[in-house]
Amino acid sequence: MNSLREHCLGKAGACTQDVLVVGGGINGAVSAAALAAGGAKITLIDKGDFASCTSQESSNLAWGGIKYLESYEFGLVWKLCRSRNRLMKAYPEQVREIRFYTSIAKGFRKPRLLIYLGAVLYWFMGRCRTRPPRLLSRNAIRREAPMVNADHLAGGIEYSDCHFVNNDAHFTFGFIRRMLEKGGAAINYAELIAAEHRDGIWHCTLRDHAAGVSFNLQSRIIINAAGPYVDRINTLLGSEGPFRHLFSKGAHIIVPRITETGHVLTFFASDGRLFFMIPMGRRTCIGTTDTRVDHETAEPTTDDVQFLLDNANALLRRETPLTKNDVIATRCGVRPLVVRKEHTEGKADWTALSRKHELDVHTDLKTISIYGGKLTDCLNVGDEIADLAESFGIPIDRSKVWFGESGESTIPDDLDEIARMEPSEIRRIVDEAMVVHLDDFLRRRTRLELTTGRNALRTHPGLIAVAQIIFGTEADTELDRYFEKRR
Ligand SMILES: Cc1cc2nc3c(=O)[nH]c(=O)nc-3n(C[C@H](O)[C@H](O)[C@H](O)COP(=O)(O)OP(=O)(O)OC[C@H]3O[C@@H](n4cnc5c(N)ncnc54)[C@H](O)[C@@H]3O)c2cc1C
Repeated sequence: MNSLREHCLGKAGACTQDVLVVGGGINGAVSAAALAAGGAKITLIDKGDFASCTSQESSNLAWGGIKYLESYEFGLVWKLCRSRNRLMKAYPEQVREIRFYTSIAKGFRKPRLLIYLGAVLYWFMGRCRTRPPRLLSRNAIRREAPMVNADHLAGGIEYSDCHFVNNDAHFTFGFIRRMLEKGGAAINYAELIAAEHRDGIWHCTLRDHAAGVSFNLQSRIIINAAGPYVDRINTLLGSEGPFRHLFSKGAHIIVPRITETGHVLTFFASDGRLFFMIPMGRRTCIGTTDTRVDHETAEPTTDDVQFLLDNANALLRRETPLTKNDVIATRCGVRPLVVRKEHTEGKADWTALSRKHELDVHTDLKTISIYGGKLTDCLNVGDEIADLAESFGIPIDRSKVWFGESGESTIPDDLDEIARMEPSEIRRIVDEAMVVHLDDFLRRRTRLELTTGRNALRTHPGLIAVAQIIFGTEADTELDRYFEKRR
């Protein structure tokens, strides 16, 4: 059993918390980090692992939303650019500028020059903090990006945005680590299953899925940061408000590295939407799809994978086309998109629904729900939550810095390297990283699941050795459970 998790369980139950944060995705993690740094007594729970839902399935881009210029959402782009710049400044190692190489087909709905002017406007809206955009001729694309099939192109543009170098889930866990350092308690595999508001206090029942037992926790405030499950939690709390979530499924595939240039290759897919090929170490991540779904969870279908492969093949110049045999792993999640309750049944162009966030506040029940949003906007969410907690009478010391790079160690993305470490060192890092199951380690604290094929992982002697150190006599059960799930 993870001793840090045990410690947090004891701490959470010991006294009434100022704040219970439900959900350990990016929105819950920033809320918890901002409040813990300010001195609040806080517990964060997640029914799965931290960042095991939407915050592990994104495109890993910290971006100002260039595509929203087409729908004239200038205010949103202005704000997102500012959020991106804040992240870039605070996380120079983890949020880095990356060049986007965008191809524009002949006869595309907007002329190439207009798109270039849009990119220049975008650069200005980003306060010129990145390298300026370039207009690309077809010959320039042929010369500089020979892997792109330029035959049907009018040309293209090159511009900058940012990406999360170590992945979204890893970035999210950084905030959890920070809130732990500031005295907060974080418990993964703990689900809120019931709650009652009595005499100004929330009396909550939680299910500890790791131990198979239930326990109680009391808190003054509840922050509902349950991502796609926000509406469900509000039903459970009796705190429904004016907003609801609609869900858009987005799938990515990961294939062997397509380009050596380090650029993100950007195209307009057959459905007219922006489509990315994003470097991921030795791999390339291709995505994404955008289909409306009715449920909080989603799996990539054969059609999703085929759509991504077909579009990639149409846009690349390759000797042999990519096939499903090249797919090393998939990522798939639902974007929780905020709408007003009365618009849930509407026939609006829902793919154009805004990606902004909304906070729904119930002063009588002392609940705050975080709807919608993007990873890029996370620092603003943390600040806004701290403001609201103060307005609920929780003293928050706003002079304390709650985000920024702190040089924390990361688990290497290399099983051989991990297996060469001292067993006590491996135990220490997985304990500090609150690893409960093998997928926490392989998918979220490292990227091994995304970059290593299932069969290569299964037979890797390093994995068996590491599993024995982490899980002891339970290693075989854990390995079987993991590979059964990944089948
Ligand atoms: C395909 C795709 C691509 C995207 N690309 C980008 C991008 O490039 N850049 C960007 O900025 N944004 C992107 N986004 C958006 C971004 O990923 C999301 O806005 C963000 O991750 C949402 O975070 P969250 O914390 O609200 O939700 P989540 O990460 O889903 O976290 C909610 C958590 O609540 C937990 N939970 C639910 N119910 C309970 C309960 N009863 N008890 C305890 N815990 C519970 C869940 O287990 C979950 O871990 C993308 C999203 C998708 C789907």
